[in-house]
Formats: sequence, C-alpha cells, structure tokens
Amino acid sequence: MNFSQIYGNEDVKSALIHMVKSGKVPHAMLFEDKDGGQAFALIQAFVQYLNCENRHGDESCGKCAGCRHIEQFTHSDISYIYPITTSSKVSGKASDIVSDDFYSHFKELVIDNFYFLENTLSTALGIEKKVAIISANESRNIIKKLTIAPLSSKYRIFVILYPEKMNQSAANILLKELEEPRENIIFIMLSHSVDEILPTIRSRCLDLFVRPNSNEEICSTLVEQFSKKQEDISGLLNILNVSIGKVLDKLSENELETLFYTYFSKIMSAIISRNFLEILNIADNLSQMDSREKQRSFCLYLSERVRDILLINKGLGNLVSCSNEQQEYYNSLVLKIKESFCSRTMLSLDRASMLLERNVNQRIVFCTLLSRMFYSI
Ligand SMILES: [Zn+2]
Repeated sequence: MNFSQIYGNEDVKSALIHMVKSGKVPHAMLFEDKDGGQAFALIQAFVQYLNCENRHGDESCGKCAGCRHIEQFTHSDISYIYPITTSSKVSGKASDIVSDDFYSHFKELVIDNFYFLENTLSTALGIEKKVAIISANESRNIIKKLTIAPLSSKYRIFVILYPEKMNQSAANILLKELEEPRENIIFIMLSHSVDEILPTIRSRCLDLFVRPNSNEEICSTLVEQFSKKQEDISGLLNILNVSIGKVLDKLSENELETLFYTYFSKIMSAIISRNFLEILNIADNLSQMDSREKQRSFCLYLSERVRDILLINKGLGNLVSCSNEQQEYYNSLVLKIKESFCSRTMLSLDRASMLLERNVNQRIVFCTLLSRMFYSI
C-alpha cells in the first residue's frame, strides 16, 4: 500500500511521512477512526514506508523484501493484535489463546480489504456475537516478542486493533513498555471508540485523527482499488456514517444477494422442469462456495424465498417485500408448487444449515437438500 493509493487525509499522510523522514517516529500512536475508514490503510502505508529499503520521495518502492513482506502480511517484525475469544475456528481455552492463533483468518480477510468492518473481522475470526477482549495473556505474548530483536528490519511493530477492548490486567502488563519505551519498538493502535480506552494507555499515545471520507474519496477508492462501478456506489452513499468499508460491505451484500437469487431461480426451474441432472450440477456448484458461512447464508436466503412463496400462496403477498419482477416470478411459482413443498423445504433447509455448521461434507448436504426439494414438489 502506497500513500498515493489513499484518497483523503492528506494531513495525516504528511505527518506520517515527516516522522519517517525526520527519524522521529513516536513509540506509541493512536489512530482514531470510524468503522470502515482509512486508518488501517494509513497504518499499512506507514509501516511499509518505514521499512522500505528503497524509498522514492514520499512513497515506498513496493519491490524490496520489506515492502513485499508487508504487502503479503508475512513480515516477521510486525505483529497484529485484535480482540479475540474462544472460536470454532481455533482450538484452545480462552485463557491460552492469542491473536497469533487466529492469524491465518485475519490475514485472509485483510490482505484484500484494508477497509474491513469490525463486525466483518469478528465473523472472519469465528467470534461474531461474542464478547471479545485483548487479554493479559495477549499482553504477555507481546512482552515475550519485545525481548527478541527485530529479525529483518530496524523496528519491531505491534499494530493493536481496538485497544478499547483491552482489560485492566492486560493494560497493566503493557503500561511499563509504554511509559519507558525500549528502543525501536513501536505500538500503533487503531480505535473506533477512543473514549473507552483506559486513560493510562491513551495518555501515552500520540493521537492521530482520521477524518471520515467525502463521497468523492469513497467513490475514487472503490472504483480504482476495488474495480466497482460508479453507478452501483452512488445509491449507497447516503447510508448512516458512510465509510469506504460500509459501502464496500453493502456492495458485497448486494452482489451476494444477486448470486443467491440466481441460484434460487435455477433450482426452481430445474425442479419444475424435472431436470435432475441440473439439480446435481447446482448442488455441486453450491458445495464449492468459498465458505461454510456463505453456504449457511444461502440456506437462510432460500428459506426466506420459500417463505415468501408460502405467504403469497396464503394471500399474504403484501408482507413480501421484493421487486415487481420478483413478485411476478413468485406468482408464477405459486401456481406450480404445492403448499407442502414450502413447509418440507423449510425443514430441510434448517437441517442442511445445521449439518453445514457441524462440518458435514458440503456436497452430500446440498445433494440431499436439493433431491428432497426435487421430490417434494
Ligand atoms: Zn520497498
């Protein structure tokens, strides 16, 4: 990530570049940001610029070993810390686990999206809807790493996401390091709720306020960095507390909904035209979706659509919210399927979702589900 790829927050970029050029890098910094804002992108551009072996003016080279490792999230001297708790994705007791145990999941999310939302990160770590913290064990892990000299660069850097989730005992362990900093150790924190950070931690950090982006900056970022279409973005710029990450999340949601709707209509067409081979093909495609979470979301989506058909069948079409085109399609389906199909399918979908959660083979789950739907029409 280069500073020139970040549109907006010119004053923060200038301040960061000046720190590196003057050799006066603070040992603890706090980026204050809104969810889905630019702070993480600024942090990545900063650590890359700081570690680049061949800087050109205000930019890192993007080619040296330091730049490449930072871009690939494989730099041995940079650690990322984030709130965690027990998760089905990681084994270990709450008192033993640390952020490093979740690193492959963290990396998978952030490597393509520096504007991730706090919720999206929780989902990626498998801890959504749970209370996550930065624990004393995490702080002890940081201290252990502090004592090892940097392996491939001048600095050892700790990027701490959401320090407001740090509990008192974790803070106590880190406090000495923040009060009497060791040479070439840098703590970079990113918070969405600075008022909730323990005062002892906050008072020892240099504050950097990341301004929310203008609509033009959001558009430029999404069009140029994520190849999104201007016309798809425009309608989303009025959402509450708009940010690059929130628009990106909504765009992905819309794209996923379009994909799900396509699968839904393909399944129904195959069932109605009695094409079992096509049913097997669709089951195969569904089993290859890139995550079980997405597959379970599809089951929920399909269940909602079947419920819509049931409502229309019962003369309650006014409760179904959909486009005119979809309404027409649903009306045509109602004429072709029995009411019992809806109730049986909803039960089968609940079961499929449960089996997916229990790690049952996805191909078996979808073949069974779609076959049941095929034969209960
Ligand atoms: Zn470089």
